[in-house]
Amino acid sequence: MTLDSTDLFGPVLDRRVVPVLVPMPAPRAYSYAVPDGMAVEPGSIVQVPLGPRFVVGVVWDGEDDGGVDPKKLKQIEKVFDCPPLGPDMRAFLDWVAAYTLTPPGLVVRMALRAPTAFDPEPMVEALRLTEMRPERMTAARERVLATASDGLSWTRSGLAHAAGVSSSVIDGLTSQGVFETVFMPPPPVVAAPDPAFAAPRLEGPQKQAAADLLAAVEERKFSVSLIDGITGSGKTEVYFEAIAATLRAGKQVLILLPEIALTASFLERFQDRFGAKPAEWHSDLAPRMREKVWRQVTTGQVRVVAGARSALFLPFEDLGLIIVDEEHDPAYKQEDRVFYNARDMAVVRGRIGNFPVVLVSATPSVESRVNGEVGRYRPIHLPTRFGDAALPDLGIVDMRRHPPERGGFLSPVLVNQIGKTIGRREQALLFLNRRGYAPLTLCRVCGHRFQCPDCSSWLVEHRFRGQIQCHHCGYSERTPEACPECGTLDHLVACGPGVERIAEEVERHFPDARTIVLSSDLMGVKRLRLELEAIARGEADIVIGTQLVAKGHNFPNMTLVGIVDADLGLANGDPRAAERTFQLLSQVTGRAGRTGLKSLGLLQTYQPQHPVMQAIVSGDSDAFYEREIHERERAVLPPFGRLASVIVSADTRGDAEGHARGLRNAAPRVDGIAILGPAEAPLALIRGRHRFRLLVHGRRNSDMQSFVRAMIAAGPKERGSVSVQLDIDPQSFL
Ligand code: ADP
Ligand code: ZN
Repeated sequence: MTLDSTDLFGPVLDRRVVPVLVPMPAPRAYSYAVPDGMAVEPGSIVQVPLGPRFVVGVVWDGEDDGGVDPKKLKQIEKVFDCPPLGPDMRAFLDWVAAYTLTPPGLVVRMALRAPTAFDPEPMVEALRLTEMRPERMTAARERVLATASDGLSWTRSGLAHAAGVSSSVIDGLTSQGVFETVFMPPPPVVAAPDPAFAAPRLEGPQKQAAADLLAAVEERKFSVSLIDGITGSGKTEVYFEAIAATLRAGKQVLILLPEIALTASFLERFQDRFGAKPAEWHSDLAPRMREKVWRQVTTGQVRVVAGARSALFLPFEDLGLIIVDEEHDPAYKQEDRVFYNARDMAVVRGRIGNFPVVLVSATPSVESRVNGEVGRYRPIHLPTRFGDAALPDLGIVDMRRHPPERGGFLSPVLVNQIGKTIGRREQALLFLNRRGYAPLTLCRVCGHRFQCPDCSSWLVEHRFRGQIQCHHCGYSERTPEACPECGTLDHLVACGPGVERIAEEVERHFPDARTIVLSSDLMGVKRLRLELEAIARGEADIVIGTQLVAKGHNFPNMTLVGIVDADLGLANGDPRAAERTFQLLSQVTGRAGRTGLKSLGLLQTYQPQHPVMQAIVSGDSDAFYEREIHERERAVLPPFGRLASVIVSADTRGDAEGHARGLRNAAPRVDGIAILGPAEAPLALIRGRHRFRLLVHGRRNSDMQSFVRAMIAAGPKERGSVSVQLDIDPQSFL
């Protein structure tokens, strides 16, 4: 007889122990015991006890460190009947955690954003034809039998609808045994896309671009392509070909869009090409839908997802392509809990999963443009607009020479063009990236400025609502009539324009025009989608909007775009200010003239010689990039150098500053890495918390993560109200 370990030591050693990542900011996985008879593997989604409650976690890789007596360990409560997170997905989540210096549990939580999706969706009751036939035939019954004779199962209402009868006809047949009740899997959230549904005939440079892209995609291995082409050149049409090829190869596709909640037109366009819509993924999705999409992505029922940045963390069954549309868009950067850039992490996901990634933009980020120039990315260029669509003529309105009327913000040059445009029954768009009526209110008598009590920011007047509001914390109060400082009545003045104030000015000039203000604070997503459709149908003459009008909408009759304040955003100390302004203004002016009508874009500026203005009106973006890239290289800024921000906040200014100093003093000395600060943040106070910033500046090959980790480890512990946020590759410096 041979002895096995069970006989020698009893069953205790047989208890398996596995690491489980729980959705908490813990530095590593916790150990849990696996009860007898339970099968788990790395990636299994499980329910485990944590303190007084149960949480959902994921069995992780690696050996348990054996530090705890297995008898004392808590047991896994349950394994969900759900595909485990695959090895690529786990490696990706680990990578993101390490790169962004985020506790891995918080990253894993992003992959589990569908609270009750881990159990299979319940089966749906359905009807199937039996051998029985009704005693008495009617025309309606015949239609039902003919429809159901395909041998498939039908839902009661689906069958009634398809046969054009009322449900009672179906019920009558069921009670006679003509139908039996069966259970079938729930229907997919979207139909399967058909790569051959409506393939376009590509033209001119599109052919070469598509051929180049397909060559990359069909290698079926990691590569990054950068499609760079002016708005309306057919970038979307070209990357649809890459999607078709990937679908034919049986793989799933993810399309990232910066503002998916607003891009109803994109979904329709996809449907026109592929015969079905992609599944949507974004924060405005109804919870039930969210769960269905999550589930069906993991099982592979959903083939294509169009989503906001968070879609990158969906556990696809077999992802084969990621498209990042408008890759330069700042909305890809998340600055909340996990600080990451979805564009960059999409490239990482492609590398780990060994599949192609396609970045798309009319105005690529400097980082991507450089990567294209040095050959890390494959540049694919579309130089001309498709068909007879011409780019708008672009002009500068020199505000020093053509100033607005007193109290106004629109130059007579622009007003004149608006009049001509609506006179031709075409539409005009006025763009100003400022919500509300006026960004600052002050008292003419004592000079008091209305400031947020909890933030270092002015309160913005929202006249439609009769409020003044803080745009950082949401604080608001009724617009006062008297100055709280000196008590004088009716001497408050609004300084500077917001979209509501521009609308007022427009209505003075054009009282009969149909004017609409589009701003995220004025309406929810649903309303916004409806308004955008109405505008596309021509139900407005003059549209005044913030940056959400810049994104991807197609207004066929829009022939004038006026940029109210092209200088806004140039002067805020952000190293990307010029780039951002160039991108935003190019995108907005690109809204005009998409259908062949002659169109015009006008930029109101006090700095007509600024390189950004010159680059836009001359159409010479190459010169702009060349200059911008040179500047970055000289200052060793990304992509030629690296940055990391450390933001320390606390209830008192002293605590925040003291902690930031402590961190700086604790930083290791590393050749090529320097620390700037601590300095009080430009937004020195948010929600009552005082903020200080450190900026870590390294060379291109510096190990920023090790440096920051060492600094945090050697620095003062986070105590009391102090909290530290790390932002690798920061986009915001406020
Ligand atoms: P971009 O993504 O570069 O802005 P789009 O792909 O949206 O450009 O193309 C602009 C417009 O031209 C769209 O309405 C699109 O349907 C149309 N279009 C582009 N290429 C073709 C083509 N080859 N055949 C038919 N329509 C096209
Ligand atoms: Zn505030």
